Amino acid sequence: MNYRYFVPVEVYGGEDCVCGHAGVFARYGGRALIVTGKSSAKNGALSDVCSVLERNGQRYAIFDAVPQNPTVACVEAGAALARETGAQFVVAIGGGSPMDAAKAIAMLARQDVKGNIFSHEIGEDVLPMLHIPTTAGTGSEVTQYAILTNDEKQTKTSISAPSLFPKAAFLDGKYMRDLPLEITVNTALDAVSHAVEGMLSVRAGALSDALARESLRLLRGELAAIGRGDRTALSRQNLLEGATLAGMVIANTGTTPVHGMGYSLTYFHGIAHGRANGLLLPSFLKACARKIPERTAQICAALGTDINSFSEKVAALLGPRERFTEGELRAYAARAAQNKNVKNCLAEFSQEDLFGVLCEAFA
Ligand code: NAP
Ligand code: ZN
Repeated sequence: MNYRYFVPVEVYGGEDCVCGHAGVFARYGGRALIVTGKSSAKNGALSDVCSVLERNGQRYAIFDAVPQNPTVACVEAGAALARETGAQFVVAIGGGSPMDAAKAIAMLARQDVKGNIFSHEIGEDVLPMLHIPTTAGTGSEVTQYAILTNDEKQTKTSISAPSLFPKAAFLDGKYMRDLPLEITVNTALDAVSHAVEGMLSVRAGALSDALARESLRLLRGELAAIGRGDRTALSRQNLLEGATLAGMVIANTGTTPVHGMGYSLTYFHGIAHGRANGLLLPSFLKACARKIPERTAQICAALGTDINSFSEKVAALLGPRERFTEGELRAYAARAAQNKNVKNCLAEFSQEDLFGVLCEAFA
């Protein structure tokens, strides 16, 4: 297999790694824009960042208006504040929503977008970014993707460029101490999906596979612990590191139709991103087992289980499933078949195949 591996993000991990590396923040200028959601004020990440910036004599403004599934209007408002306050760098604190929004804000603060952000050719000039995840799921802290709600196309669309990689990421599981169980499960399943989809990608290679296997080893152990109601400081850190490893995977491989189908569940029904992937992944893997049995067997080995047991474990974590009409599932299959990640999968999936996966997931 021919492949390229590239993740230019400095990663610091462990307890108090934000406060312990004030020098990293000092590198990027005297004025920061902090991009975050409402929970960061409670989980301790915002106060750690503010105290580091104050210790360094750096000024900051706070943009904390990022909703789940960030919109174009939100990132435009954040970019306006960045310009107004003369921000020289961006600190992102939160789950995938604030971390993705921060990337778009850092880009819009420096580049004029004429027309549609989704067709804008992203240049090199982007404010430097430092990312602090407070969920263990998206891996956005080590990817070059920012996923925004695209109302014109009624889906979620990724903007992507090498300049959207953060400069550094800080992994401290203590910020997830009060993360609700439902969000812990959803985000962990997003990370599992990233590692599995990375192994199903036509761009998979020896390095991304190694990261995906280690990610799944960490995540599968912690998913079992979550099932037993067991959440310790070590398990939060393991989840976070598993999710970051999976982010490094998709930064190189991209995702597959699991994400393509999931976007409709999120756009039309507000189903959380990770839950959408968790609902779809077992049925998709079953279809892969029929199309590419050897590769699917390797993935099951990395998951440490067979597909049926995996499916049962995921179902137990997700609880009762949403219901959709046949017409809705047909429409979502048609939309997913148009997504570029269909071509990114080692197995070929027709629109009818995707409809079959959706039917099985919501039978
Ligand atoms: P999220 O939308 O960022 O956050 C979900 C919820 O969790 C929010 O209500 C958030 O509150 C809360 N929350 C976050 N951290 C918390 C904490 N430590 N304690 C308590 N509550 C906390 O969810 P996510 O699953 O992390 O991110 C999903 C987004 O990432 C989607 O838009 C998805 O498309 C995108 N994504 C991006 C990539 C990528 O490579 N860039 C990959 C996969 C997914 P507040 O926000 O109000 O603080
Ligand atoms: Zn995802």
